[in-house]
Amino acid sequence: MAQTDYKALLADRTERDFAKWTTLQMVPEKEIYRFLHTMKGTAGTIGLTDLSEFCSKHLDAYSDSSTDSLPIESLQAMMNQLRSFFAVKDNEKTAELSILEPPQKPTPLVDESLVLIIDPDAEFAAQVKETLEQQGIPVVISLDGQKGMELFYTLHPQMVLLDLHFPDADGFGLVSRIYEAGRSRHLPIAIVSEDDQMDNQIRAMQIGATDFLAKPLNMDFFVPYMMNRLHSQELILQGTRYDDLTGAGNRKGFNEVLLQMTHLAERTGKTFTLVLLDLDHFKKVNDDYGHPAGDEVLKTFSDILLDKKRESDYFFRYGGEEFALILPETKAQSAASVVERIREVVNSTDFKIDDHEPFRISFSAGISEYRLKQETLITTADQALYQAKRNGRNQTKIYESAQKEVRRKLNILIVDDDSLVRKLVSKHFSNWKADEFDIHIEEFADGLALVESDWYRAEESYMILLDGVMPKMDGLEVLSHIRTQYPHDNIVISMLTSRTNESDIILALKSGADDYIVKPFYAQEVVARVQRLTRRMFE
Ligand code: GH3
Ligand code: MG
Ligand code: MG
Repeated sequence: MAQTDYKALLADRTERDFAKWTTLQMVPEKEIYRFLHTMKGTAGTIGLTDLSEFCSKHLDAYSDSSTDSLPIESLQAMMNQLRSFFAVKDNEKTAELSILEPPQKPTPLVDESLVLIIDPDAEFAAQVKETLEQQGIPVVISLDGQKGMELFYTLHPQMVLLDLHFPDADGFGLVSRIYEAGRSRHLPIAIVSEDDQMDNQIRAMQIGATDFLAKPLNMDFFVPYMMNRLHSQELILQGTRYDDLTGAGNRKGFNEVLLQMTHLAERTGKTFTLVLLDLDHFKKVNDDYGHPAGDEVLKTFSDILLDKKRESDYFFRYGGEEFALILPETKAQSAASVVERIREVVNSTDFKIDDHEPFRISFSAGISEYRLKQETLITTADQALYQAKRNGRNQTKIYESAQKEVRRKLNILIVDDDSLVRKLVSKHFSNWKADEFDIHIEEFADGLALVESDWYRAEESYMILLDGVMPKMDGLEVLSHIRTQYPHDNIVISMLTSRTNESDIILALKSGADDYIVKPFYAQEVVARVQRLTRRMFE
């Protein structure tokens, strides 16, 4: 749809609201507030910046919590001004404006970079996020240490910025843990703190921080600084093929070997097989014994694999607690025997962490033999792995080309009382064809509609885009409801909000939002952001 169409729709809806107000004669202040609030977000989103600013200015005069009502006469002037924004200008009649395109941004230096900020100061974190995202670098925020570590392990950011003081954790302790876990990736860690006394700076360097930046940050320095760090990390990583923690090959090594094998197979017809391995219930290991213990388990697991695999097989850490074997000149069935042998060894290994009782672990494996393209190979092995998981874990499944495809399903739920925003966002999502998922988009007109619907299925994944201000049930209420009633690991929630004010962002993050997007936004950017987050969280 062109901007003019959205504008016409919005004008229509505005007139309907005004008609309602006219019948009421006395308009509840709360309703005026919500009207302006929604209009501010929507207008900005479809490129009507002047209108958005107009609403923003008027919004200050009304309150969301007021119980007063105002006579319609007192609103006439504002209503007329608002209407004037919808008057069709001459040049619009002919030109189909494609104003929904976001302005050109600098191409990000590093393609897939993601920055994690762990900082209790939400306003500061939000400001840094905004600055970096303007440069094309996506940012996720945690206000406390615990969630910060979780996001770190789940999202594998390319850089971490963190403060030294947290209500729930010691900053230096966090730095040490992140350093240990990120060393293999040469992860830059910057401490950003007001406490920049020399002894703090010295200690930070001793435990592995890359830099110490004093608050307040000088933004003119900060942006080139970030580019510099991300860029040099990228350069360093280009040279490495091994994962430091486990000694397995890293993702880069994996891609290279897979490409080589594919070329060889195409040239000579020699087949090979890919196995994807994923530790079962690994989150529980972290929860029960802590992340450092989790890391130990990953090491020991890799040691077993490196020891038990055949000389000619390649072993990689594919990401987090997922690993891959590439077996040259091996058919799926023989690969399964190799994996089963290894599975028995892993199953019977006792893991001993500190004073805890020894415990055992298991893994699931998906196998796919080379047939067509390397992308297909990863996807099919992953499907087989998914089947192994669904079938009860601790087992190996071979992908059969004839088998009914069981693809993971990613549900994108758009919960916004503004139908225009829903339409805009879902339209942009409808073009997304993901290799790994079947995507299903669903719209909800308000929070209550979502909560009362039968939306959840445990084996599927969810990305929920949740408007902050909605009638009946506020976005934050919906958020708390979902976070208390449903598991966390298959649900990512991003708040769509025109509230830029600090306390609302704090509340959203504290109530369990994984991310937030400030309205007005560009639909493409929302889509790109969601794609990045979901790929990292659900893959
Ligand atoms: P499933 O059987 O379904 O695979 O369950 P799971 O708990 O293993 O589920 P999932 O794959 O969703 O979670 C993997 C967890 O592994 C998430 C993350 O906290 C943890 N993890 C990922 N990388 C690392 C790492 O390098 N070290 C540690 N200690 N934990 C990690
Ligand atoms: Mg996993
Ligand atoms: Mg797992």
